[in-house]
Amino acid sequence: MKTILVAGGAGYIGSHMVALLAERGIDTVVVDNLCTGHQQAVKGARKTYIGDLRDGDFLDTVFAENEIDGVINFAAFSLVGESVTDPLKYYGNNVAGSISMLGAMRKHNVKRIVFSSTAATYGEPEKQPIEETDRTDPTNPYGASKLAIEGMLKWCDQAHGIRYAALRYFNAAGSNTDVTIGEDHNPESHLIPLVMKAALGQRSHIGIFGDDYPTADGTCIRDYIHVRDLVEAHLLALEYLEREDKSGIFNLGSGDGYSVKQIIESARRITGKEIPAKIEPRRAGDPSVLIASNKKAAELLGWTPKRGLDEIIADAWSWHSSHPNGYEG
Ligand code: UDP
Repeated sequence: MKTILVAGGAGYIGSHMVALLAERGIDTVVVDNLCTGHQQAVKGARKTYIGDLRDGDFLDTVFAENEIDGVINFAAFSLVGESVTDPLKYYGNNVAGSISMLGAMRKHNVKRIVFSSTAATYGEPEKQPIEETDRTDPTNPYGASKLAIEGMLKWCDQAHGIRYAALRYFNAAGSNTDVTIGEDHNPESHLIPLVMKAALGQRSHIGIFGDDYPTADGTCIRDYIHVRDLVEAHLLALEYLEREDKSGIFNLGSGDGYSVKQIIESARRITGKEIPAKIEPRRAGDPSVLIASNKKAAELLGWTPKRGLDEIIADAWSWHSSHPNGYEG
């Protein structure tokens, strides 16, 4: 591989991607507008360009100055709740950013892209575990914006021969074991980092959003995947595109589900902290169970997640307890 362009490389998952590419000795260039990312999170890229994907001239310069062989696009807004109240922000940034990126790829004859999609493309699932061929019917604009981009990728493959891997993430969590990088969102809305903040005493308690779901303990079940396993799949996806010259959509999840209560229990055990919890009302739009079938990624990409829930929580705890204020210290 020559140079890989990582868009959104200063974000949570993007920064773990950049660190992995650096470990593997792959030349990496990052593009990020730093609106949610952190400059300090970028470790090992040859060059970081600060700018917005929607700025076509800016992207043109990045592609002209580097011999880009493949693109990994993480750059997007990803707060489900915010997307419901401000859908145009999500279509405007996520879809327009991808249009601009695909336009630059077309112009500069770059033929491979790995795209961050989401389990939110499925909406309320038809069955568990969810397979890539299952119905997609997003229940929020975030998922809808990602599904719209998947559609665009399909047509750009057909028209311009741009091969893509659309990776539908389930619940990414954890951090690199060396804890030089980790999860630092503001505001934070995800369960595991919020549980960690409650363990640190930065929050009085963790709210459990509903305990009347049709699950064994009444709380929602999700499929948590270690961020390191997640980024390893991106590298395998790039290799797949190069080897097979064929596009594909892949679920990235562990295949195991854990309830909100089980996550809190595991975190109590691993951190040794009490972690007060309170039942709160359901959060709008939360499906009761989301579990991935990861068979397709196993068969075609050769990907199997190696890290289980304990490792996810232990690594998240190492990061949060050593960086109680995220990248601010
Ligand atoms: N959740 C919760 N309390 C919180 C945050 C999340 O009970 O403070 C629940 C949420 O309802 C969902 C699960 O934890 O069932 C995972 O939520 P998260 O926002 O981390 O990821 P999502 O599944 O929405 O992508």
